[in-house]
Amino acid sequence: MVKETTYYDVLGVKPNCTTDELKKAYRKLALKYHPDKNPNEGEKFKQISQAYEVLSNPDKRSLYDQGGEQALKEGGLSSGNFSSPMDIFDMFFNNGPFGGGSRRGHRERRGKDVVHQLQVSLEDLYKGATRKLALEKNSICEKCEGRGGKKGAVETCPHCRGTGMQVKIQQLGPGMIQQIQTYCNECRGQGERISEKNRCKTCNGKKTVRERKILEVHIDKGMLDNQKITFSGEGDQEPGLEPGDIIIVLEEKEHPLYKRTGNDLILRMNIDLVEALCGFQKVIRTLDDRDLVITVIHGDVIKPGDVKCVVGEGMPHYKNPFEKGRLIIQFMVDFPKSLPPEKIPTLESCLPARSESIIPENAEECTLIEMDPEDSRRRGASHHHGNVYEEDEGPGASRVQCATH
Ligand SMILES: [Zn+2]
Ligand SMILES: [Zn+2]
Repeated sequence: MVKETTYYDVLGVKPNCTTDELKKAYRKLALKYHPDKNPNEGEKFKQISQAYEVLSNPDKRSLYDQGGEQALKEGGLSSGNFSSPMDIFDMFFNNGPFGGGSRRGHRERRGKDVVHQLQVSLEDLYKGATRKLALEKNSICEKCEGRGGKKGAVETCPHCRGTGMQVKIQQLGPGMIQQIQTYCNECRGQGERISEKNRCKTCNGKKTVRERKILEVHIDKGMLDNQKITFSGEGDQEPGLEPGDIIIVLEEKEHPLYKRTGNDLILRMNIDLVEALCGFQKVIRTLDDRDLVITVIHGDVIKPGDVKCVVGEGMPHYKNPFEKGRLIIQFMVDFPKSLPPEKIPTLESCLPARSESIIPENAEECTLIEMDPEDSRRRGASHHHGNVYEEDEGPGASRVQCATH
């Protein structure tokens, strides 16, 4: 048992979740609460980030599981020295399994990347698809060519004399002063400004305008959940900066029939007891709408939980779509609730002979009753003396004797 679940709760996962589930949860929430999308949810964004920072590190996670936040503090990780939420975010989205932005740092004067999530069906990932995505982004204002006003209208900010910074002096106590450097309010750190009458009417002196942009996203066969598609230089534009990228992160939607693991597809199939014992044919609809027939020949018995596979009917490999993974079929056997007693001798004659059980002389006779494992878990392990279990369900239904003479 874990001591606290706060971090798990913040990410909406269970304490026994896998690394994959953790990543998925972080990705979803981080994109939702990113300051670009939700400027008022800074605190939430920070909480998500801290929870992920701890739980994504096996050492910190086990420390937290054992002793909660207190243990982390004793281990030297207090609220003061978490990584910045933005660093965690950038690390997650730029150094993921598919790379994406290792160029960050190499090219300095570069605008921010914009990350969008795109939900895709398993069918899309199987067959490939093209999606149109409408986005808003900042573009250099064409009217003033990104100057913010008429030519020569830009003047050095008189408040900061062009430095973009303001120095404030604060008296802390007798003989103690503190110098605080902040961005200049007047020019928002730009070091220059444009007087109102000379401002560009289109962008109001901001040099950029919001623009609607339609992106065509090509989803290749075999792409994975969480895979990134990068549109280089399509991010927000800003004068003097190389534009960042638009990064589309794919999110695979759950499929009603198939579950994907890597390049394999898993299908749960319910069959009747008669099919399990006597063979059957079944039709499987593929993700590209073909019908496959599978046959279990007479004489082969399928047990509950048996697994079989069809080679080459799984997901296409990314960048090598003619290669496909396996289609793995897990069989569930639907047993009849009861059997007509008069048919049992016939059935028994078809089945392998039962092995005889030897009952010792002084064996004690006891009664088997139905039980609901969920119900007893709710009640705990203590003995229960209600009348719930005492109903008799009629002859032979649930009363099985464990000893006969
Ligand atoms: Zn303009
Ligand atoms: Zn200024």
